[in-house]
Amino acid sequence: MKRIYLDNAATTPIAPEVLEAMMPYLTEQFGNPSSPGQEGRIARLAVENARKKIAGLLHTSPSQLVFTSCGTEANNLALRGLIKAKKITRVISTRIEHSSVYNTLCDLTWQGQIEFVQLNVDREGRPDLKELESYLADGHGHTMVSLMHANNEIGTMIDLWEVGTICSRYKTFFHSDTVQTMGHFPMNLSEIPVDLMTMSAHKFHGPKGVGMLWMRKDLGLQVIQTGGSHENGMRAGTENVAGIVGMAKAFEMAMQYYQQDSHHIQQLSTLLQEGLEKLGAIRHGSKNDHRLYTVLNMGLPDIERSKHLLLELDIAGISVSAGSACNSGKTSKVMAAIHADQMINIRFSFSRYNQLPQINRVLDIIQYQLIGESITAENPLV
Ligand code: PLP
Repeated sequence: MKRIYLDNAATTPIAPEVLEAMMPYLTEQFGNPSSPGQEGRIARLAVENARKKIAGLLHTSPSQLVFTSCGTEANNLALRGLIKAKKITRVISTRIEHSSVYNTLCDLTWQGQIEFVQLNVDREGRPDLKELESYLADGHGHTMVSLMHANNEIGTMIDLWEVGTICSRYKTFFHSDTVQTMGHFPMNLSEIPVDLMTMSAHKFHGPKGVGMLWMRKDLGLQVIQTGGSHENGMRAGTENVAGIVGMAKAFEMAMQYYQQDSHHIQQLSTLLQEGLEKLGAIRHGSKNDHRLYTVLNMGLPDIERSKHLLLELDIAGISVSAGSACNSGKTSKVMAAIHADQMINIRFSFSRYNQLPQINRVLDIIQYQLIGESITAENPLV
């Protein structure tokens, strides 16, 4: 039986159309975009067309996009580049950020470069914006704010408008890690009051190993990596041409199919949530609509039968996760922050390729594990 993949927040399968778009640049069109010859010109054109395509879909200018090797690198460039450029001495963020932000801020703190202020988060994973405002109002040092758009473990989202407006009021720079939301929502970057945002292709059916940083015009970001003058001098290193082409194709498809994909995924997620609630599970994260529709994190009481559920699901051919793939094996600081670390938590994350029979099968297996009963025609759960 084919495995059921419900770990799309970790990574998504590459779309066949994306692979097809990439293939020429992995084979005969192998040129280096910085080379002056014909091979180089073809590669350069592919990179710049991809940049134009992504910029158009985000309502921004191509010159504001910097291609990177992943979302982690884009977050590092945003934080380290801005801290260096603006002599930032204090960064306000939370302890539930992805490790690419959190560990970067810890590192900068250990080096004595910044003070890392961690806002409180409530039980749904929302940062305390009143506290944010009180920090900004104290006028202490050169400050920037970094808050993730959607949490990768529980899906809770912040309102970029609300946070951006607060930051603008206090003339503070605002970076948002949008790795889990870019490609899952249409965005008009000419309107959102944010200075820096990040993207990673493998979260929306693009290839791994390619990401992007978007920056507000004339931000004056400084480079963090020495080398050549690639990416308008913003990021040294030969561009991953096939990866960039693939990211643009995947992003184009994500925006093209947004309505139908989001509707389809929302239906599957609701069905799974309702089925699991009947088995005594509770949903973590935001209780209102302000959450990422691709992520459903459910908590079960820590009893003998639920202890090995993750493993049992894997054996049964179902891929889910307990939290962030980047921190597997470690206690989740996100679940601890929302006081849910005493439960057995499972993150289900969906993509356009998941189907209804898969959800029924997952429910069937979980029901069997928890109460020893299978779902039958006489005993339907959904
Ligand atoms: N930020 C968030 C919220 C993520 O979920 C991830 C990946 O899981 C990253 C950043 C890092 O992206 P990448 O895997 O491309 O380095």
